[in-house]
Amino acid sequence: MDSEFARLVLAAEPRPFWLDRPDAPPARAPLRGEVACDLAVIGGGFSGLWTALLAKEANPERAVVLLEGRQVGWAASGRNGGFCEASLTHGAANGRERFPAEFGTLQRLGVENLDAIEAALPRHGIDCDFERTGSIAVATEEYQVGGLREFAEHEGATFLDAAATRAEVNSPTYLAGAWEKTSTALIHPAKLAWGLAAACERLGVRIVERTPATGLASGASGVSVRVQDGVVRARQVALGTSAFPALVRRLRPYTVPVYDYVLVTEPLSAAQQAAVGWRNRQGIWDIGNQFHYCRLTPDNRILWGGFDAIYHFGRGLRAVYDQRPATFTTLAGHFFATFPQLEGIGFSHRWGGAIDTCSRFCAFFGTAHRGRVAYALGYTGLGVGASRFGARVMLDLLSGSPTELTQLAMVRSKPLPFPPEPLAYLGVQATRWSLARAGRRGGRRNLWLRALDAAGMGFDS
Ligand SMILES: Cc1cc2nc3c(=O)[nH]c(=O)nc-3n(C[C@H](O)[C@H](O)[C@H](O)COP(=O)(O)OP(=O)(O)OC[C@H]3O[C@@H](n4cnc5c(N)ncnc54)[C@H](O)[C@@H]3O)c2cc1C
Repeated sequence: MDSEFARLVLAAEPRPFWLDRPDAPPARAPLRGEVACDLAVIGGGFSGLWTALLAKEANPERAVVLLEGRQVGWAASGRNGGFCEASLTHGAANGRERFPAEFGTLQRLGVENLDAIEAALPRHGIDCDFERTGSIAVATEEYQVGGLREFAEHEGATFLDAAATRAEVNSPTYLAGAWEKTSTALIHPAKLAWGLAAACERLGVRIVERTPATGLASGASGVSVRVQDGVVRARQVALGTSAFPALVRRLRPYTVPVYDYVLVTEPLSAAQQAAVGWRNRQGIWDIGNQFHYCRLTPDNRILWGGFDAIYHFGRGLRAVYDQRPATFTTLAGHFFATFPQLEGIGFSHRWGGAIDTCSRFCAFFGTAHRGRVAYALGYTGLGVGASRFGARVMLDLLSGSPTELTQLAMVRSKPLPFPPEPLAYLGVQATRWSLARAGRRGGRRNLWLRALDAAGMGFDS
């Protein structure tokens, strides 16, 4: 069977479905020479784009330059699952545990953030196929059902038994579900990134592409951002560089790039759609330790991702890591176990991408260069929505005045850094192995996972 899955996935295009469009914008010109501005934003993913847009909306006079090393949206922001979540904390359980005193505030801010994203789209004429469908967390093992029921009661989600879950999305593996109806929107991520960039330019932001920033240096009145053929002299700088090496070196131990992988099917026929149901088009994720996520695309394909999380020794980041046949074959096997009625459907796209993983699984923030450089990093696979919040935090930090956001414990505290190699590599491998084992043993966590839990680095989806 594995060879059949391998054949199927190899027939798919080895590139992100979202970016594979004839209307993808052409690359903008790189920066040459010297430029001065009030705010230089580094990174053309959601973090950088929201920062530039919000900065201009707040103060149209501010001169803003956005530098992108390759092209806007080519990295995580253009190749994710498109789940735009209200949660700022990588889910309620993680947020409650880490920030108990302010969890209610973080939930409110998260909903306000998602509402603000929804409101910004028509205001800026951005079409990104935004659908506020909600999401269903599904149990696929008996031992998970009780916990899911409790989760639903606690978080105000609708508990679905097996029949009710399958009436929504028909999989024989779904034993129960918790449907949160408003806290998730599904989006087309590349169209959002391109739309934000166009909106930035309409407001007067200058975007340069193919312009990696190579260093920062403080001067008397600001910060110089070095690039290959020039320099940007900025009063202030915002860093939205995600899984890539941080320009502030002392931040590097706080994140590791971890690769996540995705398959997309051919569009479903009417008969295939009838066989899966899914009329309410929710985002779905299962609550295993190594979880899958899936959703319908605007043209009714199924996007299916997750499960494996691959770390390469020495924080490796390379284009070849975007493709991993063994993971695609595993994912295809899991896909057909979940939707056996779709036997015969092909996959059109396969890809992977790097996630800026930190040990607390939600973003951390701060400043460097005497308050002139702000950063927001470490979204750990849930930054589509939260990156707009991170952009607000960076702008508030740069304002120099205390605000509701800058006073949050979440903003004022940092995750534990990862150890140097080879310990980082060994630690990640031990965690993967232990999580897989726990999944096979009714969720029972071994000594290693319990030690991580005790140190505040435990992961449980
Ligand atoms: C496969 C996959 C699936 C995911 N699914 C989801 C999901 O469904 N929901 C969700 O919420 N999150 C998801 N995520 C995570 C989400 O995509 C990210 O959290 C989010 O896009 C981060 O945005 P960003 O702008 O911080 O980073 P990025 O999109 O990675 O952008 C960073 C940019 O900075 C640029 N850059 C870096 N260094 C420099 C430099 N020195 N000079 C110039 N430019 C530089 C890079 O070229 C890049 O374009 C997923 C991620 C992956 C990889």
